[in-house]
Amino acid sequence: MTICDAHLHLTRKDLPKLSAWHAAGLAGATSATARHTEWAEALELTQLTPSWVHYAMGIHPWYLEEAPETALEELDTFLASHPALAVGEIGLDFADGRDDRERQLHWFEAQLALASKHHRPAVLHLRRAWDCAPVILAKYPEVTTVLHSFNGSREIARQLLEALPNCYFSFGFALANPAATRQAGAAQVIPTERLLTDSDYPFQHLPDASASVPTDLAAVIARLAELRHDSPTLLAGQIAENWQRVFDEL
Ligand SMILES: [Zn+2]
Repeated sequence: MTICDAHLHLTRKDLPKLSAWHAAGLAGATSATARHTEWAEALELTQLTPSWVHYAMGIHPWYLEEAPETALEELDTFLASHPALAVGEIGLDFADGRDDRERQLHWFEAQLALASKHHRPAVLHLRRAWDCAPVILAKYPEVTTVLHSFNGSREIARQLLEALPNCYFSFGFALANPAATRQAGAAQVIPTERLLTDSDYPFQHLPDASASVPTDLAAVIARLAELRHDSPTLLAGQIAENWQRVFDEL
């Protein structure tokens, strides 16, 4: 089965694993940064990995406080000098009592604006932010967005589909859990050409595992196919085409 992983976090220590994953079906992957301190290594990795690995650079909502003021200018410069670089992982996260709303909104919108300026896709982390994220995203309808490990309901998915012409919904390992009924409901209404999958490696895993790798997304594709009464192989091919449309055309 062809597998594309729209969001994971590679480091230097993962380099020896890439060829085995590729041989096991991983045809495309987009590696993102979460912290400013990871940017130098990510830029190095762009030179060390095969062409089926793409990179996104950004600051995750959990790590804004440690980022220097100059980070946005740096990101602007890196995007200008690296034409294949996407933006991410950026987003909004108001779960677990996080209340730095002003700061999160500022960085989210500033990084989205850079994605717009440089015509790059943006990989998004959105949690407990459905009251404000759609409003902000609707200000940047031209930006292709990837909602990684999408955990919204069917209603949220419909709302986003209507407002955002260039939005992709990426399902993670959580969908393989039969108890994930909210995600399952959303997975049934999203058009095939807007579907992606992501492992968030090494941070997420299949419900029955303690650790998972990108090729374990085969189980997520199988679950998506089951929910959508589709063939896993055909769906995997369509998801790979979607990944290529977003990242390979950079
Ligand atoms: Zn992530």
